Amino acid sequence: MTADNTRTLVHPSLPQESQAVSAIPADQPRRVGNDLANAAAWLKAALETTANGILLLDRDGSIASMNRQFTRIWRIPDEPLQTGDDAAVFAFLASRVRDPEEYERRLTEIRPDGEDDTRDLLEFEDGHLIERRSHPARLGGRIIGRVFSFADVSEDKAREAQLKLAASVFSHAHEGIMITNAKGDIVDVNAIFCRITGYSREEVIGRNPRFLKSGRQDDDFYRAMWAELIARGHWAGELWNRDRNGKLYAQRLSITTVEDVIDASRHYVAVFSDVTELKERERQIKRMAYYDALTGVPNRVLLADRLNLALAQTRRHQRCLALIYLDIDGFKGVNDIHGHDIGNQLLVAIANRLRDALREGDTLARLGGDEFAVVVTDLGGWSECDPILFRLLGVVATPIHVGRNVFLLSASMGVTLFPQDDGDADTLLRHADQAMYQAKQAGRNRYQRFDAEEELQTQTRHRSLDRIAQAIAQNEFELHFQPKVNMRTGTVIGAEALIRWRHPEQGLVMPGDFLPSIEGSELMVRLGNWVLDAALRQMTAWRGQGLDISVSVNVSAHQLQQADFLSNLERKLASYPEVDPGYLELEILETAALGGVARTSNLIESCQSLGVHFSLDDFGTGYSSLTYLRHLPANVLKIDQSFVRGMLHDSSDLAIVEGIIGLAAAFHRTAIAEGVETVEHGKLLLHLGCDLAQGYGIARPMPAGDLPAWVAAWRSPPVWRTRAVQSQQPDADARRAQKKSRLVRRPRKTRSWKWSD
Ligand code: C2E
Ligand code: MG
Ligand code: MG
Repeated sequence: MTADNTRTLVHPSLPQESQAVSAIPADQPRRVGNDLANAAAWLKAALETTANGILLLDRDGSIASMNRQFTRIWRIPDEPLQTGDDAAVFAFLASRVRDPEEYERRLTEIRPDGEDDTRDLLEFEDGHLIERRSHPARLGGRIIGRVFSFADVSEDKAREAQLKLAASVFSHAHEGIMITNAKGDIVDVNAIFCRITGYSREEVIGRNPRFLKSGRQDDDFYRAMWAELIARGHWAGELWNRDRNGKLYAQRLSITTVEDVIDASRHYVAVFSDVTELKERERQIKRMAYYDALTGVPNRVLLADRLNLALAQTRRHQRCLALIYLDIDGFKGVNDIHGHDIGNQLLVAIANRLRDALREGDTLARLGGDEFAVVVTDLGGWSECDPILFRLLGVVATPIHVGRNVFLLSASMGVTLFPQDDGDADTLLRHADQAMYQAKQAGRNRYQRFDAEEELQTQTRHRSLDRIAQAIAQNEFELHFQPKVNMRTGTVIGAEALIRWRHPEQGLVMPGDFLPSIEGSELMVRLGNWVLDAALRQMTAWRGQGLDISVSVNVSAHQLQQADFLSNLERKLASYPEVDPGYLELEILETAALGGVARTSNLIESCQSLGVHFSLDDFGTGYSSLTYLRHLPANVLKIDQSFVRGMLHDSSDLAIVEGIIGLAAAFHRTAIAEGVETVEHGKLLLHLGCDLAQGYGIARPMPAGDLPAWVAAWRSPPVWRTRAVQSQQPDADARRAQKKSRLVRRPRKTRSWKWSD
């Protein structure tokens, strides 16, 4: 052989002609010609073109020839080639393989003069796998040597291993696998697919998987699935299919698009597992969480869910929704007498009946015990709700047979209508419950509507009560004082304490704006006590400043009716020993006597025995002024300001004022006119014989701090003291009456007045 392995493959020991013949197989066309040189050239080119490495050995084992590819595959360095030393080449070959010993052993088996074809694998040190084939070369039936071919099959082997692995995954996976082509026709399925679906591989190949559809998912579902699969190459989710026997099964499925880069074909690989059991368990757990175990109807949790949903819908569709709270009457008794088993059977029967009496879209829920709630939607108003309520009452009241017993039950129901009652789910349920309670109170076996308007008022009232209680605690109230005078003599005879609320946000709030909301409540009593206390404290303070002035305090009817009114008053007076009880006057309304004329009259007398005075406020505005005048021993009549203000223009008002002045004289009481807004009013009153007055024309109510200076400075208008007015003295009777009540000047430095008996 020559050092140049690319040249001749002709064995030097053989004649050229015979070699050429043996180099071209017998079945090959002989068109290459008989020209030996020509044939050798063809052979050489063929050898150099083949991708395999070729090695030719003589029958004695020496190298006859090799092609370039052989040296490349074996990576034979130039040196052994150049020397032409076969032993060096063989030694190198042995050094390239992973297991040289095995290699050598095998070589002894593959004899160059042997008859057989051989085929085996060599593993190189660097991991490459080389397939070695050999074939005897014959000349006229005689073996002249052996042709070896070597092919690097590393990549093929790796691919093969991968394919094997993939095939094993495919057949051994615990998931069902289905492969479809781009059209969606099934190309292959695995054994688990067959087990889950019940179809054999042969039955499904070539078919579109839609034959598995259960109908549980609509077209939109599949449209969305395909859209995602196309957009992202992947889709995962759950769906229901039907197996070969028509049985539904749930599968958790993931589909992946597989694009083949070489032939640009597309396949879809769907991997799925059967989650039917899981779904069933999930369903059971859900059932336990959302349904009442005994009756099977929704429980409170699901009710809240459904109610919220229904509320939103009702609002959107501008319809009404009724929420009914239903409680079986006297059910505890049934349980106690007949036991819980019977009780439970009754509840189940009632639940079934109620459910049957409702429309499809309405919800019946058990709230617990013998309490149910019903949500009725899509109503036009109360008129559409009432028949349903009657029907429900009816189904509960129909006799129920359980065992050998017949039960006659009834229900009480409360119902609220949304959006008239515009609350959230919780509030509505509370309101329906409240109304149910009223139905019970009203005698059971009936329903009661919840009155949203009334509730709103109650709430507002509660809120304002709370705020007023807070105002007392935070000391936001104060007393203003309005002087009362004797117009004829020009003297100040006292002051009326009037409550004001110094509201942090609203400023000074007048009693007309907050007293009505607490009228008749316990809070009114507390506030009354505060007023009494504040007035006595103020009187003590003025006394310290040298102003001894009679103060009148308004007392509400409710406060006066308190059983401890007298003792309380006594205690208060005792705690302000500086104050002479005779300087305290209580203004009461005629309605104060509504609690009983005799009792009120006794109370007044008891208070009077402590020295305290009384006046009948707003006199003339009550129903039975004359009765009260006769029976209540109050010393003073305060002529209501509405008559006084109107008397200058209105003859009826004038007549009333005149009448009251006359009555006061006849009953030996003193009259004082409220609402004296102008000098004219005063003049007319003086003319009519009423000397005492209070009103804006004299002074408006003022803070306590302003009163002493005002008292010191006040002078009555001169016209009230003129002879013309003075001459218009009341008639003799009135004068006598006034004298009897004996308004006397107290021997004090200050200008104050006191009533004495
Ligand atoms: P009242 O006891 O009849 O008090 C007289 C009311 O008439 C006061 O209104 C006073 O400011 C007002 N007034 C006085 N002179 C005139 C006038 O010339 N023209 C007009 N238009 N009004 C005049 P105020 O302070 O708003 O009190 C209203 C009512 O609230 C009182 O009527 C009394 O019934 C009640 N009130 C006031 N303070 C208290 C209190 O401390 N306790 C209780 N229980 N009621 C009180
Ligand atoms: Mg008053
Ligand atoms: Mg009054």
